[in-house]
Amino acid sequence: MTSNSDPGDSAVDAVLPEPRKDPPGDAREEPSGEPSGEPSGAASVYRYRRVLLKISGEALQGKLGFGLDPDVLDSIGLQIAEIARDGVAMGVVIGGGNIFRGQILESHGLNRVTGDHMGMLATVINALAMQDSMERHGIETRVQSAIKMTEFTEPFIRRRAVRHLEKGRVVIFAAGTGNPYLTTDTAAVLRASEIGAEAILKATKVDGVYDKDPLKHPDAAFFPRLTYMEAIRAKLKVMDTTAMSLAMENGVPAVVFNLRKEGNIKKVIMGEDVGTLITPS
Ligand code: UDP
Repeated sequence: MTSNSDPGDSAVDAVLPEPRKDPPGDAREEPSGEPSGEPSGAASVYRYRRVLLKISGEALQGKLGFGLDPDVLDSIGLQIAEIARDGVAMGVVIGGGNIFRGQILESHGLNRVTGDHMGMLATVINALAMQDSMERHGIETRVQSAIKMTEFTEPFIRRRAVRHLEKGRVVIFAAGTGNPYLTTDTAAVLRASEIGAEAILKATKVDGVYDKDPLKHPDAAFFPRLTYMEAIRAKLKVMDTTAMSLAMENGVPAVVFNLRKEGNIKKVIMGEDVGTLITPS
């Protein structure tokens, strides 16, 4: 979900750049900052050499409404494997909203912290499913969990994660940050900062950031580019505020894009004019 601001809100109008009615089509300005140059061998068609892909749990449920859709897992696994084979270093953070969310469990009477623990466990289930899919497509993958489960995941160790990336393995970061009251968006920003990702690719079910939800409002206007501060001030639901302020402070840009369009992950990493670019300033 990308936006929730009220149309006609003058405070919002005052801080946002001019939106446009249509999603991307024109060439976009190059984001600043040189690629890290790692790992070696990344094909020159790619703008980014090291990225952090954030996939929500909801994206994995496909049309099922709950749990995991094998076709969606297969499609995402294939796309990631192909890009990783080209030499792009890929870290992945997966949400858990297709199974449990702490806040929703709390509204049903559960203790919030317990609910958040269940939500974090849900992300581990998704991470294992995603790992299986990627390995079926022939790419080595490691799951690193923020909560120790050493029988079937590695613990999160930053230096080890970076080493895996350098060896061409995809690293899936599971269990969010390991702390309650936070989201996997915040985990994505944290891990992106820790592994030195050049950008966070935030996969959604719409084409990017709009002034209101385009699935409910056909007249929603699209933002090709924003700063985190603009998104925070206008209360656009791009990511939660904690995640956005951390990304802003750490200087990590994000591209919000539509995962439902096959091939979009690659297009974003190639720097094509897909989605909304959110810059730190
Ligand atoms: N969660 C948490 N701490 C974290 C990350 C996640 O407590 O650092 C819990 C929280 O309950 C959250 C759930 O895990 O609702 C699933 O994560 P999220 O809602 O971010 O998943 P998504 O919306 O991306 O599917």
